[in-house]
Amino acid sequence: MQRAVSEYYARRATPFGRAGDFTTAPEISQAFGEVLGAWCAVCWEKLGRPDPVLLVECGPGRGTLMADALRAVAQAAPAFRSALRVHLVETSPTLRETQRRMVGDAIWHDDIATLPEGPVLLLANEFLDALPIRQFVRRGHAWMERHVRDGGLVELPAQDAPALPDEAPEGAVKEVCEPALAFARLLAARLAAQRGAALLVDYGYGPDAPAFGETLQAMRAHETGLDPLAEPGTRDLTAHVDFAALAAAASEAGAVTFGPLPQGLLLQRLGLVTRAAMLAQASPRLAGEILSGAERLVASERMGRLFKALAVCDSTLGAPPGFEDP
Ligand code: SAH
Repeated sequence: MQRAVSEYYARRATPFGRAGDFTTAPEISQAFGEVLGAWCAVCWEKLGRPDPVLLVECGPGRGTLMADALRAVAQAAPAFRSALRVHLVETSPTLRETQRRMVGDAIWHDDIATLPEGPVLLLANEFLDALPIRQFVRRGHAWMERHVRDGGLVELPAQDAPALPDEAPEGAVKEVCEPALAFARLLAARLAAQRGAALLVDYGYGPDAPAFGETLQAMRAHETGLDPLAEPGTRDLTAHVDFAALAAAASEAGAVTFGPLPQGLLLQRLGLVTRAAMLAQASPRLAGEILSGAERLVASERMGRLFKALAVCDSTLGAPPGFEDP
């Protein structure tokens, strides 16, 4: 089944999509949400088909990913569709309203702490990069922290700092996203206690990352690398996700992690390219757009390598779909 054409164009709304400040994988191709829905359905089978089961999305944006996932599983895995209860973690009241129109029946939360008990399947795409970071700068033998003062940056002695490396070259910058680490710990403890699996997709660096460097950037109208301090509130501020730190935090809290895998590799393994080819064949008029969307998500020089996927699972689940081989 394909999204209606009118819906296809209707989803080009700010801040996502072509007219907005940035566009995201679910807005580029409906196959993204579909294969992630199928990923959840297979994990549900591996869990022993619990009923009910929570299907959670963090930072759902316009609700496109969840709508595509639900449509796909209704067709391919109807037993999973009837067992699942949708929970959305979203702080923006405006986006909650958009999500209500796209997804329908769901329960909203400010964070994952208020989710009801039970096994959970959780998806998050470009959620963690939106959480605030702290930047520390090495000066002499100490770490200073960057603060914003009167529209500019000042360096002050670091207070209540997280664990930072003992050694670093002069001027090295270390970014730490404490809310993302807290999220990973809470999620992992919950999965360990109540079972389930989560797939976290974002752009960021993996284990081969340089130890130091700064990635905070502002985006507006598809321009990247803007000054993050200029015109506060008018630009989307993001930083690369540190997957190695997230995986370490999740493991410490009792979960098992898989990956991160490059997004392109995972999506290929989950059948996104095949699905896009089917959609293109069914809609020759949109074929070019459908195929170039899939290419954009998968190709290494586009979103396929910078974006990565980390799976966080309870220890009894085994490797989730796409993560069976290293
Ligand atoms: N996943 C969507 C949108 C990504 S944008 C997509 O791929 O298109 C980031 C999303 O996270 C938005 O929905 C934003 O409102 C939400 N968000 C940002 N900070 C949040 C927080 N602290 N708690 C919950 N949601 C948050």
